[in-house]
Amino acid sequence: MGTTSGGAAAQAGTAWAVDSHTTLYCVIGDPVRHSKSPVMLNRAFQETGVNGMYIAFHIMKERLGDFAAGVRAMGIRGVNVTIPHKLDIMPFLDEIDESAEAIGAVNTIVNEDGRLIGFNTDGIGYVRSLKEEAEPELAGKHVLIVGAGGATRGILYALCKESPGRITIVNRTPERAQALAEAFKGSADLRAIGWDRLRDACAEADIVINTTPAGMHPNVDEVPFDPSWLKPGTVASDLIYNPLTTRFLSSAEDRGCRIHGGLGMFIYQGAYAFEYWTGVPAPVAAMRETVLEALGRER
Ligand code: NAP
Repeated sequence: MGTTSGGAAAQAGTAWAVDSHTTLYCVIGDPVRHSKSPVMLNRAFQETGVNGMYIAFHIMKERLGDFAAGVRAMGIRGVNVTIPHKLDIMPFLDEIDESAEAIGAVNTIVNEDGRLIGFNTDGIGYVRSLKEEAEPELAGKHVLIVGAGGATRGILYALCKESPGRITIVNRTPERAQALAEAFKGSADLRAIGWDRLRDACAEADIVINTTPAGMHPNVDEVPFDPSWLKPGTVASDLIYNPLTTRFLSSAEDRGCRIHGGLGMFIYQGAYAFEYWTGVPAPVAAMRETVLEALGRER
């Protein structure tokens, strides 16, 4: 999908410079200054020679309509949407892709000649990362998801497409887990269980995914549940990437689990967005290297 933006100046291997052909891309959020998307996507433009430039805009909720009009007027080719605008941006778009419709949130916008199309690359980014970095074959696997917030919806959508044997969801507020299981019923063997059954569910799972923020910086000593419940050989996965290895993951590794952190999800959601906008394969390794450098500078 999409075409290489900018035209003449874009050639892989040539020096990257802004000129009058440069096409603009951006991320919007509130707050947005913590975002690693600009360093990651500008590196992608630099690596591929696509004549694009990517910046962060701090947009308040009440200005989303103005922002969408600005995207059309200025010909901004692609937008990433981050918290808290993933739902609120939807009424201002012309079309919502099936993925974003099912998930109920947009994190990527493609501007096709003034027509704004909303996509969601969070879930498929997570699953691509899980398959490439931890478990290539998800068919038939029993997946346990701990947490039932916004990120979980995208992951569920993408996991259901992989023919898992079963997906079990557990959440501190059980109604939210039940609502998710209901929303995706028919897409997989899905069930919601109470927190009191989490220990038993860990013993049965091939892959256990923490989608809660427990353990995220600065609360790095927190764990979502007792990691000693995990059995050796299980894939323990965490959406958190700050820190890169949470206490949940390091404890799981000590128990003989294979571990998978959240950085890959961030990289691949951006990689899909880049590919939707430009039609050029994303330089994933370079993007990862740049984000790791940026995270390292903050430590
Ligand atoms: P969210 O919508 O706020 O949902 C948070 C979920 O975690 C809720 O189900 C909540 O339960 C549960 N929870 C919160 N604190 C908990 C605790 N101490 N113990 C047990 N459960 C707890 O958040 P989100 O947007 O889904 O994000 C979740 C995590 O994913 C965050 O750490 C975020 O940074 C990460 N994330 C990573 C990426 C990436 O690219 N790697 C992308 C998106 C999100 P209740 O329903 O009971 O409140």
